[in-house]
Amino acid sequence: MKFRNVLDDIKIYEAGKPIELVVREFGIAPQDVVKLASNENPKGTSPKVVEALKANAHRAFLYPDDSMYELKEALSTRYGVQSTQVVIGAGSDQVLELISRALLEPNDKVLMSQVTFAMYEVYAKQMGAKIIKTPSYRHIVDEFIDAYREHKPKILYICTPNNPTGDAITKENVFKIIHAIDKETMIVVDGAYMEYAAAKDEAYRITPQDLIGFENVIYLGTFSKAYGLGGMRVGYGIANETIIKALHKMRPPFNITTLSLVAAIEALKDEAFVCDSIALHQQEIERYEAFAHTHGFEYIESYTNFITYLFPDTMDSTEIADRLLHKGVIVRNLASYAMNALRITIGTPVQNSRFFEEFEKIIK
Ligand SMILES: *Cc1c(COP(=O)(O)O)cnc(C)c1O
Repeated sequence: MKFRNVLDDIKIYEAGKPIELVVREFGIAPQDVVKLASNENPKGTSPKVVEALKANAHRAFLYPDDSMYELKEALSTRYGVQSTQVVIGAGSDQVLELISRALLEPNDKVLMSQVTFAMYEVYAKQMGAKIIKTPSYRHIVDEFIDAYREHKPKILYICTPNNPTGDAITKENVFKIIHAIDKETMIVVDGAYMEYAAAKDEAYRITPQDLIGFENVIYLGTFSKAYGLGGMRVGYGIANETIIKALHKMRPPFNITTLSLVAAIEALKDEAFVCDSIALHQQEIERYEAFAHTHGFEYIESYTNFITYLFPDTMDSTEIADRLLHKGVIVRNLASYAMNALRITIGTPVQNSRFFEEFEKIIK
């Protein structure tokens, strides 16, 4: 069977390894596995969300409200936009897919940073588009503007804060890029970790309201990270009605489950849970910074819920990730991005201590 030519060039997305795999392959008890590989919220799911899910479990037989009225109302109230300016996806991943399908013709170009969220590339390639990357792994304004002028991409991705590096770009610099780009290019501002960046430094806070006035900009958010709902698959895009209408034409019906809607609506109400999550994160990430100092390697200043350790040539990220895995500690190796680096989700105090302990044994 001959599949579409574009598939030859697509690498299957390498998801963080699940706990089940480590239990199966290394015979480690599930409670001893420390999963710091997928940027999930270490505080888990908000207890209020758990209660709401239990109370609504019997509604699983019902198709969800396909208009997603209540969630759109809640999001639009939260962000000060109209509910007609919101589209909901099965994770913001699905919104990325809708954007690619709504915009890209074969051989269109898509511009992104050298090291960024892998799915931008996958969705673009599925449509037969060409990938252009800036030279640096950081988001550098001039690099984006130069590459834009040379290639005239159909979509330009700004991932701030950026996954898998953890760095971010200020609101001022995002605006510089937006103002240099003409209206035929869609600018996607992916704020999957924005809650963490905004809490760390106001200069990095970008809200949907900041961007809604631009006719060619869409803001993406997700419930998977700070809101602790990675398993429920809910994300959103916020942009002007013209963009949102186009995306709705590409959206499959009932793309969010009945219970996912319940969870997201409840999670939005529980601001205290998000605040506590961020406070815990800010406390724990300092231990990771100190740990790097102590052991003499670099890290990228993080605006996210993970930290990226950069190793000298004397340390090999692939070997370290592998040895950690054998001890039941799952982290993300960035060798596939041509970086001798590990991305580690900041966990609970106990999980982080386990990481430090196992890591020290390895490097000794
Ligand atoms: C996690 C993540 C997303 C989307 O996650 P979903 O679970 O699909 O909402 C989008 N962009 C980046 C950069 C991410 O890290």
